[in-house]
Amino acid sequence: MARKRKQYYRNSVANPIYQTATYYFENTEQVINYHLGKSKVGRYARYDNPSWLEVEEKLAILDKCEEALVFPSGMSAIAATLFTFLSVGENFLFTGKGYRNIRNFSFDILGRFGIEVITLPLANSENFYERFTSLYKSNTKVIFVESPSNPHLFLVDLQKIKERIDETTILIVDSTFSTPINFQPKLFGADLVIHSCGKYIGGHADIMAGSVAGSTQLISKIRKTRNVIGNIIDPHAAFLLNRSLSTLEIRMNHLNEKGLLLAKFLESHPKVNRVFYTGLDSHSQNDLAKKYLSGHGGVVTFEIKGRKEDVSNFIDNIKLPYINGSDSFL
Ligand SMILES: *Cc1c(COP(=O)(O)O)cnc(C)c1O
Repeated sequence: MARKRKQYYRNSVANPIYQTATYYFENTEQVINYHLGKSKVGRYARYDNPSWLEVEEKLAILDKCEEALVFPSGMSAIAATLFTFLSVGENFLFTGKGYRNIRNFSFDILGRFGIEVITLPLANSENFYERFTSLYKSNTKVIFVESPSNPHLFLVDLQKIKERIDETTILIVDSTFSTPINFQPKLFGADLVIHSCGKYIGGHADIMAGSVAGSTQLISKIRKTRNVIGNIIDPHAAFLLNRSLSTLEIRMNHLNEKGLLLAKFLESHPKVNRVFYTGLDSHSQNDLAKKYLSGHGGVVTFEIKGRKEDVSNFIDNIKLPYINGSDSFL
């Protein structure tokens, strides 16, 4: 019986959604060649899917890295990466004042596996680099930096950290809040670059996705973790992420322009206490913003003058943005 499958059109402009759980080999020779690494065909959809491969190639190019991997969420990319490189008894440093679930993951989960989890002071605090040097130890395996941070857009001087650590420490940068359009962590010493791709990169509030990019050597280790754990993105979400990449630059340029206008407007408003936006001269790390960022995005964080009721009143009356509040409202 001929097992060869008919190949239909192969010239579609959009990369198709490969809604498949597995693949077939043409013959035993192909099985052998696959396992010897001589041929690259699909085997099982926990290991690969052509719907991801195109996105991964593009993300690697955008992040100026050799290779990239996609995940079903940003947290999933972070978890797989940290599980790949951290072992019991090792020290893990991270920017504590950032995305809350990274903090939860670090303390509540990594902590249970015997990893020493330590938060870095804010980069604009006094004697940051002296304090960094005292926290950095011979068993510091990974440093995780969120820059710009969610939601205050705090920055870290990556180059200065890179100068103070040795080759065995992996420097990871989560630059979700800048995207590759505004910031290129790899050029400043990052070993791995992580994004929550459901935010700016996805851009349409319709998918969850995450990515990590780096050298072939590091990425192949993370791929092994993903192959085993199976935290893989759905082919349809990968398709939508691929679509989103086509407009990333245009969207970011627009957000950079409008974000700055909004930040300036808010800063000049008598009822606004202060604004956190890296594009403003008043940003406490304006020097770092100039060094690292080519644009500042569409997230503008600000404090309203007044009491809690005034803040609720303001939020309940805004027309455009949807409300999405954390428990800090309580
Ligand atoms: C949202 C976010 C994450 C987590 O990503 P998910 O896709 O929501 O899992 C990680 N880092 C930063 C900076 C984020 O804003």
